[in-house]
This record gives sequence, structure tokens and C-alpha cells, in this order.
Amino acid sequence: MSKKIRGSCLCGAVRFEVEAPFVRAGHCHCERCRKHSGTAVCTQARVRKEQFRLLQGEDSIRVYGKGEGAVKAFCVNCGSSLFGGDWPEGDEVSIRMGTFDDDPGIRPQFHTFVDDRAAWDKIADDLPQYPGPLP
Ligand SMILES: [Zn+2]
Ligand SMILES: [Zn+2]
Repeated sequence: MSKKIRGSCLCGAVRFEVEAPFVRAGHCHCERCRKHSGTAVCTQARVRKEQFRLLQGEDSIRVYGKGEGAVKAFCVNCGSSLFGGDWPEGDEVSIRMGTFDDDPGIRPQFHTFVDDRAAWDKIADDLPQYPGPLP
């Protein structure tokens, strides 16, 4: 069995663990991710649902924007952006990489929605860039 990678929100109410391998990881520059994170991007990694386990804090998780696209799940106590995608349904869990307490191993592989990025958002790596969603 592979090593568990732990994650938590800022206040510690929400804790989870995941098992590698991840499906993928990337930076999303879309407006929803910008607004929700309060900064340039949401950087997130995906795992299959079976590899994800919520250890505590289910009651502290609120889901914003259901039916408007990828949801934004966050901690109601501290505001940490935690999960996206179709949380809590869906076959995969999209996890904000800033919430990991351990090195998840995977690194961001691409940029999506680069056409929506903030005027001051300068991409400084050589990863593939997509104008909209992942093709
Ligand atoms: Zn919290
Ligand atoms: Zn986005």
C-alpha cells in the first residue's frame, strides 16, 4: 500500500488523506478559481474517489456554486478552499494543492483558462497553456 498523503484546512477542522497515484494536477486561471482563491489561480490535483478519505470535518465543509460549473468546497470556519470538481459526488476528487500537509509527489502539469487570467498574472514556467478547459 502506498504512503498516505495528508491534507487539512487552515483551522484544522477538516482533515483528509489521499493515496497516490494522482490522475493529474494543474493550475486553473478561470474567473471562478481566481475569485474563490483570492489570487491568480487554484492549483489542484485529482485522485480517484476510492483513494480519498475524509477523516474529519464533514460538517464544516460548504459547497458553493452547484450547477454553475465546478463547485467550490471550502471550510466554513477558516475559509480555506479545499475541493472542486463535483464534490462530494463524482468519480474523482479535485483537491487544492495548498491544503496538502505532505508532499503529494505530483507537480502541476499544465495551465487552463489562461485567456481568463488577471492582467497582472504572469506565467513563469514552460508548462502547456490552454486558453480554456483541458482539451
Ligand atoms: Zn478550516
Ligand atoms: Zn478554474
